[in-house]
Amino acid sequence: MNARKGMPRIKESDLQANIVEWMRYALPIDAYVHHSPNEGKRGPKARADLVRMGCLKGFPDLLILWNRKAYFLEVKAPGGTLTLEQRHLLESLDGLGYRTAVVNSIEIAEAYLRGWGIPLRSRPMPVREAANNG
Ligand SMILES: [Mg+2]
Repeated sequence: MNARKGMPRIKESDLQANIVEWMRYALPIDAYVHHSPNEGKRGPKARADLVRMGCLKGFPDLLILWNRKAYFLEVKAPGGTLTLEQRHLLESLDGLGYRTAVVNSIEIAEAYLRGWGIPLRSRPMPVREAANNG
C-alpha cells in the first residue's frame, strides 16, 4: 500500500521507465542517460558474473552525462528505501563532488536536473491515473 494517500501506486521499474522516456527528449541533445542493470533477483552465478564484469552493488539507477559532468539518480517508488550499499555509494559519490539525488517522482527528477543547471527542453507530461489501480 502506498504511504502517500491519493497517489497511484507505481512500481519502481515503471517509474524509472517513465523518467527515462521523458529524459530522452528533455535532456540536451548532447547528453547521455544510462542505466546499469544491477537490480533484481538473480542467482549466485549471475550475480558473480555481473560483479566480475564490473557491476558495482548499489550503483545508482541512472547515470546522466552532460557537459563533461556526471549526474546520478537513484529511483525509488514512493515509500521505497535505500539499501545500505546504495546509501554508501551515493554518499561516496556525493563526497567526490558528483551530483546525486534520490527521486520518487518524475517531477522531483525534473527539479533536481533543473537545480543542477541542466537546460531541459520540455516539462514532464502530467501523470495519468492508472487505469488499473487496484
Ligand atoms: Mg532504484
